[in-house]
Amino acid sequence: NADSALSKAKASGRETFAFYSSELTAHAFQRIRIASELRQAIEGTGLQLYYQPVYAMAEQKLVGCEALIRWEHPERGLIPPNEFIPIAEESGLIKAIDQWVLQHSCQQMRIWQEQGLHMQFIAVNISSRSLSSKPALPEIVAQVLQDSKVAAQYLEIEVTESAVMENPKNADAILKELRSLGVSLAIDDFGTGYSSLSRLKSLPVHKLKIDQSFISNLPTDPEDIAIVRAILALGASIGLEVQAEGIETAEQMLFLQEQNCKLGQGYWLGRPMPVKAFTELLTDSLTAKLALPANDQQAP
Ligand code: C2E
Ligand code: MG
Ligand code: MG
Ligand code: MG
Repeated sequence: NADSALSKAKASGRETFAFYSSELTAHAFQRIRIASELRQAIEGTGLQLYYQPVYAMAEQKLVGCEALIRWEHPERGLIPPNEFIPIAEESGLIKAIDQWVLQHSCQQMRIWQEQGLHMQFIAVNISSRSLSSKPALPEIVAQVLQDSKVAAQYLEIEVTESAVMENPKNADAILKELRSLGVSLAIDDFGTGYSSLSRLKSLPVHKLKIDQSFISNLPTDPEDIAIVRAILALGASIGLEVQAEGIETAEQMLFLQEQNCKLGQGYWLGRPMPVKAFTELLTDSLTAKLALPANDQQAP
C-alpha cells in the first residue's frame, strides 16, 4: 500500500523516494481515472451482465445460471471483472456495483419467468466488501426482490470462501439474515480459502462451488482427484449441494458425473453469454429437449 511504500522509500533515501513517488503517483492517477469512468458506467449504460448456464450433470439439463458482470468501455472494449472489481473495491464503488448486479439479475429473471422460461436459480456474485460495510446487504436484497417481484428462492448469492472465513462475525450475521429472507447461499471458489469445517457446518449455506483450479487437471492429477472427491464427500455428509466450476472438457464432465457431482458449469457446457444468446439457449433447452451436445461432439 501507498503509505508503507512511501515510508519505506523515505527511510532508504532521497533518490528512492523520488522514484517511488512518481511511480505511485502515475499508478494512483490511473486508478482514480478508471474509478471515475467506472462511476459513469454504473450511472449510464456501460455495464452488462453475461449469463453462464449451470447444468444438472446426470440429466444434462439446464437448471440455472450465473450472472457475470462485464464493462463495455468506450475506448478499451469489453473489460473483464478481474480488472475492475479490485478498483471498485478500493474506491468504494463496489457497493453500487453489487446493487446494480442484484437489480439487473432479478429484473432479468422476472422477464424470463414472465416468458415462461423457468430456471431453478440465478446466481449473483457479491464482493466481500458487501459483507462488511453499510448499507446492509440484506436490506438491499429484500428491496430488490420486492421491486422485481422475484420470489427469494430463485436468487442464489455467491460469496467466496475467503470472504466468509476472513470476516467471521459480520459475515455470519449477514448470511443468516439473507437466509431468513429465503435466498440460497453458495460458497464460491471453494477449496482455495481456509475453511473451518465446524464453522462451515454452522453456516446457513446451501452449496459449495468447487474452484476451477481443482477441475482443470482432472481426470489425471491424483491430488486434484483426491481433493474433488473429498469436497463431494464433505458436501454429501453435511448436506450441501456441490457444483463444479470451469469444466472445459468432456473427460472432466464424465469424471464428475461418475463421482456423482450433481451440478456443473464451464466452457464445455456453455460460456457466459449476452442476454439474447442465453434466452435462445434457455428457450431451446425447455422446448426442444435439447440439453447438451452428445459427449462425442464438440463443445459449443
Ligand atoms: P467466479 O464467480 O468464480 O466466476 C467464474 C469465472 O470463471 C468467470 O470469469 C467465468 O467466465 C469463468 N469461467 C466459467 N467457465 C469457465 C471455464 O470452463 N474455464 C475457465 N478458464 N473459466 C471459466 P469472469 O466472468 O471473468 O469473472 C471473474 C470473477 O470476477 C468471478 O469469479 C467473480 O469473482 C468476479 N465477478 C464476476 N462478476 C461479478 C459481479 O457481478 N460482481 C462481483 N462482485 N464480482 C463478480
Ligand atoms: Mg461466482
Ligand atoms: Mg468461482
Ligand atoms: Mg472467483
